[in-house]
Amino acid sequence: MHPFTFVFLVALAAHVSVELWLARRQIMFVEANGDAVPSDFATSVTLAEHSKAAAYTVARQRLGMLETIFGTLVLLWLTVGGGIARIGAVAAALSDSPLLAGTLHVLGVFATLAVLSLPIGLYRTFVLEQRFGFNRTRPAVFVADQLKAWSLGLLLGGAMVACVLWIMASAGHSWWLVAWAAWLAFSLLVTWAWPRIFAPIFNKFSPLEDQALRRRIDALLERCDFHAKSIFVMDGSRRSSHGNAYFTGLGREKRIVFFDTLLSSLTPAQVESVLAHELAHFRLRHVPQRLLAGALMSLAGFALLGWLARQPWFYAALGVPSVSNASALVLFIMVTPVFSWVVSPLLAAWSRRHEYQADAFAATHSDAQSLAEALVKLYKDNASTLTPDPIYSAFHDSHPPPAARIERLKAFLSPKSPPVTAP
Ligand SMILES: [Zn+2]
Repeated sequence: MHPFTFVFLVALAAHVSVELWLARRQIMFVEANGDAVPSDFATSVTLAEHSKAAAYTVARQRLGMLETIFGTLVLLWLTVGGGIARIGAVAAALSDSPLLAGTLHVLGVFATLAVLSLPIGLYRTFVLEQRFGFNRTRPAVFVADQLKAWSLGLLLGGAMVACVLWIMASAGHSWWLVAWAAWLAFSLLVTWAWPRIFAPIFNKFSPLEDQALRRRIDALLERCDFHAKSIFVMDGSRRSSHGNAYFTGLGREKRIVFFDTLLSSLTPAQVESVLAHELAHFRLRHVPQRLLAGALMSLAGFALLGWLARQPWFYAALGVPSVSNASALVLFIMVTPVFSWVVSPLLAAWSRRHEYQADAFAATHSDAQSLAEALVKLYKDNASTLTPDPIYSAFHDSHPPPAARIERLKAFLSPKSPPVTAP
């Protein structure tokens, strides 16, 4: 066996074992705490709601374990099993142009992955989400969504892959630097174009009509010296009853988007506090920090790909008998996560730090009480567990556990006036 094949298989086994172990821990911890509402939430969450969240978390975690195992088998088939090489041979038979054949090769691998993941996606939407009362996606909407997502993937992914392959073939030894610059420009372009061109393909966006809420939001934006171009309501309820709010766009072109499901479940004061939290990610420069970190990580990735693409053992060890740019690209995309997962706890910890900072910002610029109430409401509506396993949470969660967030918010609540004593 090639030494790197061995390294790859050991890293893959380690990754899968850790993922499954964490998932088992999460299931056991959530089940063990499913019979009693944590004391902090005793007045705001009923036992029935708490138990539903536990059952939902466990069901999703079980499906996640199945996905991990299935994904591992598919990855083994694609690499050491020769799947990538076989798809490459089909692509080569379809076109004489190396650029077109290479692009078809990479897209063929992703199309295969998309088709293979379809059954689990169907099960998630129509069985799991349905069972817990969250699904509102009709089969026609599901089919339309898949077709739109695949066409968009073909269009955007195809353009990007063709561009990178062309640079690999023609930009000389330092092609990876040129490819990185192109990748960065492409990402910024898609980020800019997403709310304008692509998001409306999937959802309807209408201007916020509630004038009282609009005035509240304008006052908040004013207080925080923040400029957003427009406020939209998105028809999230067409697919799911889960709620959310987010900012999109770049620079002064930012938009605020509320899911209609969020607006129907929170009071105006709670909506304001949630928005203040989202806004904090911009005011506290979390968003540019993340963009910068992403740009640096992709630079490291392209540099590594630039080196690996020149190593014949990289192909031979991973089931690809002949050297080609398309194989290098697709192998790199498939195999990197087997090694890079070790930094995910650091990224998650960084993200949780930002979440605490955003909560603190919202508490000072809006209202800590409303934010705490909104968080409980959202955890309840989304059936998110209030009692995650500490190790699972430290490893995977981008947001701190609810009890920890509420605990920190308590420090911002105005102290109650001392009880009046009788003379
Ligand atoms: Zn946040």
